[in-house]
Amino acid sequence: MAKYDNLIPRFLKYVKINTRSDPQSTTIPSTPRLTAFAEGLVTDLQAIGLTDVHINAQSAYVFATLPANTDKAVKKLGFISHFDTADFNSEHINPQIVENYDGQSVIKLDEAGKYTLDPAVFPNLKNYAGHTLITTDGQTLLGADDKSGVAEIMAAAEYLLAHPEINHGEIKIGLGPDEEIGTGADHFDVADFGADIAYTVDGGPLGQLEYETFNAADAQVEITGTNVHPAEAKGVMVNASQVAMDFHAALPEHDRPEYTEGREGFFHLYSMTGDVDTAHLSYIIRDHDRQIFEDRKQLFQGVADQLNQQYGSKRVQVTIKDQYYNMREVIEKDMTVVDLAKDALEALNIKPLIFPVRGGTDGSKISFMGLPTPNLFAGGENMHGRFEYVSEQTMEQATDVIIKIAELAEQRA
Ligand SMILES: [Zn+2]
Repeated sequence: MAKYDNLIPRFLKYVKINTRSDPQSTTIPSTPRLTAFAEGLVTDLQAIGLTDVHINAQSAYVFATLPANTDKAVKKLGFISHFDTADFNSEHINPQIVENYDGQSVIKLDEAGKYTLDPAVFPNLKNYAGHTLITTDGQTLLGADDKSGVAEIMAAAEYLLAHPEINHGEIKIGLGPDEEIGTGADHFDVADFGADIAYTVDGGPLGQLEYETFNAADAQVEITGTNVHPAEAKGVMVNASQVAMDFHAALPEHDRPEYTEGREGFFHLYSMTGDVDTAHLSYIIRDHDRQIFEDRKQLFQGVADQLNQQYGSKRVQVTIKDQYYNMREVIEKDMTVVDLAKDALEALNIKPLIFPVRGGTDGSKISFMGLPTPNLFAGGENMHGRFEYVSEQTMEQATDVIIKIAELAEQRA
């Protein structure tokens, strides 16, 4: 008998429902299928016995409350995950179950074996000897990112309701859309949510605990040339594509994703178009250190200024937009939220894996709205594609961690 009866059945039910978000959309949520899924969650959360279950109008998040069963003044904990899935086929998801995996065999995803999970290609498979793995059938993604988080949070709430001997404060649950298109957290309603500290349960393998993310900006470069016939071009033509190459060449050569790791930041050219008349460069700028991040943006603008000076006119126009900031800036003012998670992991004999994320999480935005929100593991591997898989045992451990955090928060109040 599984410790959490409904954890895996609920997960399997949810992954079979297509909840791919739509990056082209301007609505909240991005597609009607996310609204339909949210309505289903409302029904399920009410069936568990949670209170104040509602869809928040501003964000389309589903919010629910697990009432406290103690008189102590415990910090209100929030647990957040997203139910939309990434930009990959998500129609007719057909999860496969591999029981008691031996940690070394090649797993066939589709019948013909065109797609496989091979430990030679995905070495993390070796960590799952003895586990039951849930995989795709090779045609779709799985959606463990982040329906594993959804199912774990719900299983933890259900368990706490069934075990009143475990004391806990009020617990808030937030399940949201559109994380994968980067907009879900923009509309998060911290006041309606009502938590004091929170966690996104949206990380990868066992033990991950993340509270440091990039500072992030998007930078667009628009270049205007002067197009004349090449035969009469001397001293007249300004080739926008050439100016674009000069711009790129003036950036630090080794500050690129392919040369950096750990806390090293970068300028990443992710798209370029151009002819003689006009050229367009699109970059993202990333750094964990706020000051170096600001310096990077200044350097970027400086390259444009330099070229404009050289040509004696504004041929290079730069538009830089900040996207999110390193949540560490907020969290290190009060490390309680990190300490609780770390201690919960250790109490459960799970080794905390704490590394700076080379990206952002929903918590990077939510933390700057005043709710400190690091990221906990949810268990998924190889997210965003057909090789995605998750272990049942790891999902159970993620559920254990949520319960343990609630328990520790009460004991320390
Ligand atoms: Zn995710």
